[in-house]
Order: sequence, then C-alpha cells, then structure tokens
Amino acid sequence: MKHIALILSIFSGMSLLAQEQIDKADARGKGSTAVERLHFRVRATKAIPEQNSVRINWRCGGEGLGGSVIKGECVTDDKQPQIPLGVWSSWVALKDVVGSGRGWSFPSVVVTSEPVIKGKSSRPGVTLSDIAVDFEFAQNGKVFKQFSEIAPKGSTVGFVFPGSALADQVTPEFADQLNGISTHARLRRERLEKAFPEAAPMPKLFGIIGHIGGYGEGPPGLRGSHGFGVRHCNPTVLADEFRTLRMLGVNGMVDRIGFADAAGVGADFRHTFWGGPGSGEPMAFFAKPGKSAEMPDGCPYDPALKPYVMDRVEKAIEEHRAVGAKQSWALWDDEMGVYAKDHIATCERCASVFRDYLRAKKVTLQDLGKTSWEEVKPYPLWVPKPIAVKGVKPAPTTGLAPAPDNAADSLRYYYTYRLMTHATGQVFPEAAMKFSEAGIKLYAMQGPTPSWQGASLDWNEFYDLKPNTAFVFETSNRDARTWQWESYLADIGRGIATRHDMVQGCLVKPHRGAPAQRMLSVIARGTRAFEWYTYGPDYSKGDSFSQSPELLEQVAQAARFLGKTESYLYAAKFASRPEVAFVTPRSSEIWSRVTDLSLTTFENAKWVYLALMHAHVPVEVLSEQQLAEGKLDHYKVIYIPGAHLRRDSASAVRAWVRAGGTVWTDASGLSRDEANQPATAMNEMLGLANRQLESWGTCEAYHAAELKALNEKNAPAGAEFLWEKSKLHASIGRESLEPKTAEILATFADGKPAVTRNRYGKGQAIVAGIWSGLSYSAKVRRSDFDMRADFDPALCALIANPAIERQAYRPAIPSDPLVESVSLSKEDQRSIALINWAYTKAKGDLTKGTLQPVQHLQVKLPGFSDAKSVRSINHGPLKLTNGAVTVPSLNDIDLLIVE
Ligand SMILES: [Zn+2]
Repeated sequence: MKHIALILSIFSGMSLLAQEQIDKADARGKGSTAVERLHFRVRATKAIPEQNSVRINWRCGGEGLGGSVIKGECVTDDKQPQIPLGVWSSWVALKDVVGSGRGWSFPSVVVTSEPVIKGKSSRPGVTLSDIAVDFEFAQNGKVFKQFSEIAPKGSTVGFVFPGSALADQVTPEFADQLNGISTHARLRRERLEKAFPEAAPMPKLFGIIGHIGGYGEGPPGLRGSHGFGVRHCNPTVLADEFRTLRMLGVNGMVDRIGFADAAGVGADFRHTFWGGPGSGEPMAFFAKPGKSAEMPDGCPYDPALKPYVMDRVEKAIEEHRAVGAKQSWALWDDEMGVYAKDHIATCERCASVFRDYLRAKKVTLQDLGKTSWEEVKPYPLWVPKPIAVKGVKPAPTTGLAPAPDNAADSLRYYYTYRLMTHATGQVFPEAAMKFSEAGIKLYAMQGPTPSWQGASLDWNEFYDLKPNTAFVFETSNRDARTWQWESYLADIGRGIATRHDMVQGCLVKPHRGAPAQRMLSVIARGTRAFEWYTYGPDYSKGDSFSQSPELLEQVAQAARFLGKTESYLYAAKFASRPEVAFVTPRSSEIWSRVTDLSLTTFENAKWVYLALMHAHVPVEVLSEQQLAEGKLDHYKVIYIPGAHLRRDSASAVRAWVRAGGTVWTDASGLSRDEANQPATAMNEMLGLANRQLESWGTCEAYHAAELKALNEKNAPAGAEFLWEKSKLHASIGRESLEPKTAEILATFADGKPAVTRNRYGKGQAIVAGIWSGLSYSAKVRRSDFDMRADFDPALCALIANPAIERQAYRPAIPSDPLVESVSLSKEDQRSIALINWAYTKAKGDLTKGTLQPVQHLQVKLPGFSDAKSVRSINHGPLKLTNGAVTVPSLNDIDLLIVE
C-alpha cells in the first residue's frame, strides 16, 4: 500500500494515504453488456481565447481512481481531430471509455487548442480556459440524455458513469445518475441537506479534517487545469462539495486548503491544517535518481541525513505559515515501517550505534557471550530474499532469520530487532523540536500495527525517542467483529500520548464501518483532531465514502452528535485512573514471528483486551519499558498475556506482586524472557514447575480483511473444562499447568490443571492454561456471526474476574457486554460515552455487519455515587434508581451527562 502512496505523492504532492486503490475494484458489481449499446458525443461551445476549432481528448481511470488510465481523442464525423466550435464530434463507444462499465466511472474531457502536428514543425497550443461542453448519450442510436458542463477556470470537464445502475439496458435510475460532475456534486449536497433540514451547531473545538481532490485551474502542469487527477475546473462544484463537507462537521483540510479558497470558503476550513512534509519517508534522501525502491539503501544514522531533514522542515514550516490555519499539524511519513532492516547487519556505523545502544541498556559482554565490544555486531535478522541461508529454512512470509539456538545470540537478535525502531525514531526529534518552535505539531501516520501483525515498528520504543509531538493512527479494520479494536489502539495511543504529553489525532474511515462508534471511541481516549478519511470526492479518489448516501448520513449524524457534546468531550479525561493495567509485551511480538508460539500470543492478546472491555473494566495499556520503570503501585491487577517478558520488567512485576498486586496471564504466559530463554525466575511467582504447551491448531494473523475461523482439528477430550458451571473449550492448544505451590482453580476434563492461583508475598498470580482470548473469539469467527450471542460470558469471567474480585475501578457498567462505556470528566462536568459495537453478519458481505440496537439498556453507575441527575444526549433526562439508569434504546452512540 505504501509504495502506491509514494508513487502518487510524486505526482500529486502530499497525497495522504493514497492507499488501497483496490477498493475501487471491490465496488464493481455485476457485468452488463448494455454498455456495448451506449455511445456519447461532445461539442465544445465556448473557449477563451476564442477558437475556430479545438481538439477534444478524453481519459478515464487511474490517477487515484484505481486501474490504469485509458485515453482517447474525439474526432469529427470525417475523422478530423480539429473539431469546429459548436460542432458535434462523432459518436464514441462508451465501452472504449469505461470498459465493461460495471462500477462507477468518472471520465474526463479536456478541450485543447493543440494544433495537429504536420511533419516536424510543431507549435505549442495556447492554454484554453472558460470552456463549455455539451454532452449527448445514446442507446442504440437513440439519445436519452443531454447535459452541459462548464470549466470557468480551465479546460477540463467530467461526467459520471453510474455503471452499477446499468441493468441489461438503460434504466431510469441510470439515466438520472448519468450526469456532469457539477450536477453529481449538487445532487449529493441537496440529498444530504434534505436528510438534515434543521440547522445544527457543528464542532468548533475539535479539528475535523476533510479531503478534496479533483479540481484544477490555470495553465497545465502538476496542479494545472488538466494535470494529474484533475476532473473539473469549476469553483461551483467545489462550493457544493465544501457545503457537503460542512454538514459532515469538517472544519480543516488535508493539504489542499487552496481549493477552499477557490470556492470562497477558506475561512471556514482553517481550524486545523494537516500538511507536509508528507507521506514520503526522509530515507528518500538516499534514493538513487531514476530508481524507485521501497527502501533506498542508506544509513538512518548517516550524519548527512539530518541537514536534509532540517531543510525539509524549514520548507514545510513556510508552507504551513502560508496557510495560516489556527492549528497546524505536519505529517511526516505514512504507515511508517522501519528505516533499516538488513542494512543494519552490514553497516559499520550501525554496528557502532548498536554497541552504544546495548551499553545504554546495561547489556554486558557476558550476556552476549563475547569478550570484547569489538566482537559485538548486530545479528543478521533478515534473510535476504530469495537467497536463503544454506540448510536453514527462513520464515516464509517475513524473510526473518530463524530464532538462534543459544541465549547470547538470541539476546543479540532481540536487541537488533529493537534497533530497527531506534534507527527510525532517532531521525525525527530535532525536526519535532523545530516544528514545535513554529507552533506546529509533528506526527507520523501510524498504521494499526498493534491490531495487525506485520510491521516492524514498535510504537512504544519509537515515541520514547520523542520524534513526534502528536500521536496519530488510522482505523482500518474491515471486519465488524474487530471494530472494537479501535478502542485497543486508542488505549495504547492514550498511554503513549499521556506519557509524552502529546496531542492525539486519528483517521476515521467511514467506509470501513461504524464511523460514529469509532469516532467516539477515539475521542473518549483523548483524540482532538481527526480526519473523515476520505471524502474523496468519488470522482477524484478511490477508497472514499462520498459516493455512499448512507455513510454521508451516518457521518453527518456523528458530526451533529459531536457538535452537541463537544463541550463535555473536548479535552476530557478519564473520570479516574483505571486500576487495571494491560501489557502486550513487545518481546512476545518479536519472538512470535519466529518461534513455535507462531502468531498465537499476538492474536490472543487482542481478544483478552476485548474481554476486559466486555466486562466494562477500563485499563491503562503499559509497555514493557513502563513495567520496568516500576511505578505500578496504583494498579490492583496487571494483565500480561504473552509468553515473553523482559527480565527487568519481570523483576518489577515480581516486586509488585509481592507487595500485594494480582498478575494474570494465560497459556505459556511469562514463560520466557527477551532472549527467548525459559524465564525460570517467574516460576516461583506463578507457583508452577515446567511450562509445556500442547497445540492442536493454529490462528491466522488478522490483517484488515475478514476474520478467519481458527484452524482446529482433533482437539483432545481434555480440552474441555468447567468454569463457573459452564463447560468451556480450550481452542487450538492448552498448557496443562504443573503446580508447585499454586492451588488449582479448574481442571481439564482429563484431570490436568487448567487454571491456577499462587499466593506470592501479599499478592497472587493467576494462570489460565488456555489461549483465553482466542478461545473467547472462537465462536464469533463463524461466517453467520452474531456478536451478542457469540461471546461466552463464562470465558469473559475467566479473564475479567480477577479485576472484578479486586474491585478494580468500574465506574459505569452497561447491562450489555457489547456496549462499551467510557467515563469522562472535564473540569466539573462528568459524562459517560456509550458505544454499541454489536453486529450480526450482513447479508451478502463477508465482513460488514448489521448493527444490533439495544433496548432498555441498564447502566449501573458505581463510579458516580454522588450523581443527582443523569441525562442522555439522545433521550433527555433519565430516571436514576438505586445508582442505575435505563437508556430506552441505543443505536450506535450516546453520551450520558451526569450532574
Ligand atoms: Zn547504518
């Protein structure tokens, strides 16, 4: 995805996240041969400077819309390219322009004065402007539609071909939607205005970012009137689109603020500006001319890189100043990976940095099995593809070298892995500071890596280097069952932003589903600016939502909700600090790529988090580094799913448990250290002897698309066990626990211990010998899922009970597990965000769900025992009885105001 963004950014400047053009292909519906009977013709009726004749070119596709560009030229009936003004061209077969015409297409028509080249002599044509073009469309030679388009500022006009509405012949629906872009934009705006006839306050505190493309004006060139991606040159179209954006709450822009100025509404869109340097990575400095590579060969520690970085910063600051928005955020790099992989193993400079890095982490020569620092080199992590190391089978998808077979090399492996993030983060701190001096936030657009297995960058290590002053991630999960992971990502982000005093932002993608829930989830965790990614519009960009009336209404509704509630929500904080911490150890993630634990620990952790959310237990997400730093006294329970934990973190956890803490983990949890060696020091705390995992299945990594069933065959009879009188099933594997001092809380059907608790000092350690998160997710992975029915309450209790028994802070407890509550306070105002994540499978779509509204939702309010009144934003005052209220119904989101 990223390489597409890079290529596009070359052509279109700061093209934010120009990803997944593939979406366009998704949108294509059933085929139709009707397109073969359709033709169109055009005539230019006006051009400045005045012309006797013009040339008329068309093109379709590509340029941000997916696929490649198809081009052609209109001619006169006697095949002449020069077409006199006011004279119709000959008929053009629409199938030559839109192909099979299955989806929506947005062909462009450009009027030029280019003379026909005769022999070698050629003179350039003059640039035309203020053109007008008539269109006629015919089926089997019979005209069924006519319209005109104008381009007051240039020479490009466009039309909309609504292929999805084309049956085996032209339908009224098709004819209605076959329009010039100006009508298309106006109808979109009018439809939304009709759906929301009443004026409503729009958000003024939150920055809501929009995107507009497709406009060009002036002479040809990159941004000219018929440059790359230009679909029209008509400020009236822009004005319609910006009116629609305002109804979506948009008050800021990505990049093209000039378009708002051209539409005469620039002042309304200068709340927050998201601008460059852009989505290209600074490592482009090392790119060889004429060669494009995903990662140019270069050293991120090369001293020559920083002057280049600072030069880019200076230029970007000038651009931001020229825009003059109230708030300016500078993007630098999108879906960030790491800036050095195999390079590290071969670079002397990196080796030297590596040694310093190890010494700073207090790693000794003895740990590394060396006698002098000169011998210490980064571990060759990456098996160069396609050449594998002889006799060694590389991990097939990652190209990572296999796990070393000894402790010293494994430690080097681990730290070399971490150095990749260090190499990336250290590029930016000076840039962040320089931007900060100019009043501009610097951010990297993070892909949702903690919910996707796949990227090497570690958010925690990255931000600990202070490379950014804003934390921004994008929401991307397509499957309804994973949408609540947005809360997980936002909780991770909240932790990082709190630690480093950063503001938070987000890309919320309406066409990926649940726009209102996603918006409220990230806002409740501190987000102050977000982009509705991406409006497009449809004629300028694939992966957009402007083409969907349903999504536009949902987004407009969400914006109205925010307009009403922002005085409670903007800059609100959690009403009180969670008393439960959740840790996904980075060490587990690193080793999960190359050890027998495969992806299991990583995938498992996400569902453990969700079980806690379903039990309405708010958490603070901590990094291993934060564990190691101690400061854990505030927590009653710490959840650490994952096999690997750093030794210094483990030591801090042991001290905290001895002092009274409760630690929870599950199958193979806390069994190894950062060097992939048995963590025998943890056995005493856990009260266990040997740790042995038994597997009979696998779990696929989730990466944006459909959530797949667990691969499970021949589960042993012993996989069953009883918990709270419910029969539970351990999915894909188990750890039959071997208690030494621990008591047994549950046994598998074959009599082996399934859940244990060990008293350790004043605290306790609980181990569930199953992949508790994956087991919790097993049923909902079915193709006809029903989220409200598919999560077993007993498994949820198995995970959440330690927190509930310790009476960890649970301020607001909805009666429905799939309704998340986030309790907030801001000065003396208190509120509770309610977010309904319950979906069933939608018909005809593998991933999208159908929202399941809730009736009579009871919300207990133990965290608000002094509440005098409670009011719902959607329903007005609620009756407060015995510390609880009943919300008559909840569709997607609500906010309870507590006074
Ligand atoms: Zn290097």
